[in-house]
Amino acid sequence: MISRRMIGWGSQDCAIREISAYGEKRAAEIGADKVFNFTIGNPSVEPPDCVHESLERMLKELPPEKLHSYTPAPGLESVRQSMADYLQRSFGVGYRAKDVYMTSGASSALAILAYALLSPGDEMLTFTPCFSEYRLYTEAAGGRLVEVPTDEDSFQLDVGALEKALTPRSAAVLVNSPNNPSGVIFRREKLEQLAELLERKSAEYGHTIYIIADEPYRELVYGDMEVPFIPAIYRNTVYCYSFSKTLSLPGERIGFIALHPELDDYASVYAAVCGAGRALGYINASSIFQLMVAECIGETVDISRYEYNRDFIYGALTELGFSCVRPDGAFYLFVKAPGGDSRDFCRRAMEHNILLIPGDEFGRGGYARLAYCVTPERLHSSIPAFRALAEEYGLVSKTE
Ligand code: PLP
Repeated sequence: MISRRMIGWGSQDCAIREISAYGEKRAAEIGADKVFNFTIGNPSVEPPDCVHESLERMLKELPPEKLHSYTPAPGLESVRQSMADYLQRSFGVGYRAKDVYMTSGASSALAILAYALLSPGDEMLTFTPCFSEYRLYTEAAGGRLVEVPTDEDSFQLDVGALEKALTPRSAAVLVNSPNNPSGVIFRREKLEQLAELLERKSAEYGHTIYIIADEPYRELVYGDMEVPFIPAIYRNTVYCYSFSKTLSLPGERIGFIALHPELDDYASVYAAVCGAGRALGYINASSIFQLMVAECIGETVDISRYEYNRDFIYGALTELGFSCVRPDGAFYLFVKAPGGDSRDFCRRAMEHNILLIPGDEFGRGGYARLAYCVTPERLHSSIPAFRALAEEYGLVSKTE
């Protein structure tokens, strides 16, 4: 009696991992320098010094029972206090240790929140393009993901489109800024409109519609762009954070959930988060990494490499006639598929050994995602292949 649902999800490989695995196979065949694998958001910049210093010191100085023991299910009190203090210092919202639940990265935080906030048949709304796993977390919890397209030219929130999609079954809205895959940061004015709409609709439906703010890229921002802190705009926000990108630690699996202290039905939401954590087995995030992030919170990788890459690849591709919105954050470029068919575009790019992810995976056909979190040398050496692709589409004239 094996679960058909789980067999389905397990056999249908995540396209990002599948194309990335193809890239590795191809690299073994023709040489790694000839394959331009822009599929996966794996940071290429070293973690800040604080990470290794803190780990080395802890390994030398702390007794095993501090390093390796079970912690309380939501995390160590002192660590949760550090997360709360940091949020309070940075954004002026009065978080307390008891508002924080430590998780294995944002993935488990999102899965917990889908289980905690949705009853079977409830709707989770999100804006597309969006992170491909949102659908899975929502459906696993028995909910229904409702995709609302962002504005066509800017990928900014279309609050009017969200209003049309809301129904009395709407339970939460998932917002990811800086955004994967568009790199766009949602503007304050749009978030204020969103807050006003959700307050109005919550009153109309007689239940709170929560925001889940998924922010693993909060620190990866170029120039002086503001990333508005959504819980300070809309009190009924559950904040979801990960150290995967900020500290370049995707393999260590550490992050947290923070409930706004003035959340409606606070006690029930907190109990539901703890219940979902237990039900899913997402308790007691890695104790060593909890201790490390308590020391390193506020530190960030050197983002100048990503900023250089953003400028370089955006400049090079637009010069070749490709069209894309200039990203303000994260490390992705969402390129418009010439001809409009993103799968065909990615297939043709693959013939030039350029590996991209079709926008359909992010709920937005007609585009392809390029992850530029690679070395600058990789980006430089990919340009002749992009030129050949642009020539094939007639975007530039053929070189002799
Ligand atoms: N949310 C978004 C928007 C992401 O892009 C990712 C990972 O790429 C995650 C969540 C999951 O991140 P984590 O490594 O913390 O599980």
